[in-house]
Amino acid sequence: MSKASPRIAILGIHHEGSRFAPPLTEADTREWGRLDGEALMADANSDRPRSMGGLWGFVRAMDVTGPWMPVPITYLDCGAAGAIEHGWYVRVREHMRRALTAALPVDGVYFPQHGASITTEELDPDGELFQMARDIVGPDVPIVATLDLHANVSDRMVQATDLLVAYRTNPHTDQSARGREAAVAMRELLAGLKTEHHFIRLPLMAPQVSQLTAAGPYAEIIAYGQTKVDETVMNVSILGGFTYGDTPDQGMAFIVTTRGDGARARDVCKELAGRVWAYRERFLPKLTSLDDCVRLAVEAGRDRSRKPICIADVADNPGGGARGNTTWLLEALHASGAEGVVLGVFTDPPLAAEAHRLGMGASFDAFFNRAETEPRSRPFTAKATVVGLSDGVFAGAVDGSAAGTMVDLGPTAALQVGNVTVVVITRRQQCIDPGYLEHVGVPVATARTVVVKSRGHFRAGFLRYFQPDQVIEADVPGLTSPRLENFDFRSVPRPIYPLDQDAEWTPPN
Ligand SMILES: [Zn+2]
Repeated sequence: MSKASPRIAILGIHHEGSRFAPPLTEADTREWGRLDGEALMADANSDRPRSMGGLWGFVRAMDVTGPWMPVPITYLDCGAAGAIEHGWYVRVREHMRRALTAALPVDGVYFPQHGASITTEELDPDGELFQMARDIVGPDVPIVATLDLHANVSDRMVQATDLLVAYRTNPHTDQSARGREAAVAMRELLAGLKTEHHFIRLPLMAPQVSQLTAAGPYAEIIAYGQTKVDETVMNVSILGGFTYGDTPDQGMAFIVTTRGDGARARDVCKELAGRVWAYRERFLPKLTSLDDCVRLAVEAGRDRSRKPICIADVADNPGGGARGNTTWLLEALHASGAEGVVLGVFTDPPLAAEAHRLGMGASFDAFFNRAETEPRSRPFTAKATVVGLSDGVFAGAVDGSAAGTMVDLGPTAALQVGNVTVVVITRRQQCIDPGYLEHVGVPVATARTVVVKSRGHFRAGFLRYFQPDQVIEADVPGLTSPRLENFDFRSVPRPIYPLDQDAEWTPPN
């Protein structure tokens, strides 16, 4: 039954939690991580929202598809980091419970979620929040969520909701489009539609580097899945999952949602999962050793007729909960003397502050990681000159994953360390587009080797300079290494491929 101006509650936690990274405290995201009530709507309606695109895409599409009454509750953005400190999560959850209960009656609920959250005690907070909302609003009020395709989907997440809409691009460039899709679906649900869905989770833990959507095995199944969408099949979501969550819900997830046709949902879902299982070995990563990375960088510097190269430090991706400050590539490239090397972004607040204090042109002994306690990051010292300074605030490139948002790296410095130009930042994040380096005066267009601390989201923005055949993925230590055998998994369901080569799966009847 459709109401003239439906009341839609908005609440959620956007968090990709790594069990291998240090826990996340309330203080870690106090500055810009939480939006309550009207502040949530003000951000969603602003020219450059800080919230993820799912949220503002949903809000703007609801605005143009008819009257509605937003009931903003709380949106907590934790980014990608360690597990949320459980006591803090419980305080946020209980606030949400009270606020949603007090807001009743509502006609719908929207979650701008990521779907791979963990706390220091709960391995499925996403499912817990969805179920909590279901218990509060009852069985007949639609609940819709957008999910990152790196979500680890639990049975509870699927059962408690009417529709889950996952991103279909990696690098993620369709967050706001999926928010809009969720809003359009919400209108159908408000008009009385009942969905039927089918969910399959494969015993396949695809390394993060093999989940790209431009080409490769994941791209093929995402594209094929979309050919199944029609008047009956409302949404096909295929989620690669987030490896470092280490939860019982790990595994590539297939969710097919139909307009009331359960058999069709099951058939399509089974076909998609079976296709991927048949070519699962294509998800194994192809990494380049540190020695080979250095050799290629030296050659690129020496021979200007060659194409420049981009080395992705995939093991140190802050977008996956790593620290963004390991020194394996920095130290080796510095020692090699390779010419024209640019490296960034390197998270080191004390070093960035020191460079700002010393000023442009100053030369000093740069001590990287003086305050870091994570052993995989390692300290490094070298003579450095300050060649660029900025406040770290700039607009994300229109062709990259930060499009439409304001980037804030905090005080930022470019340091010349031998032949390597290093961009040092204050607020930990991955290097998403060339602006992260260029905004502080570091040329990317003329560099011979560019090292990015990112697993894959740089690929959209850096496509201007680097085609896929110029990008190599380095095999160095780090909290987001694709070498899954190096991690001490505790909660992942076993057997699971490729950790267990003999893992088996047969389609359910
Ligand atoms: Zn993601």
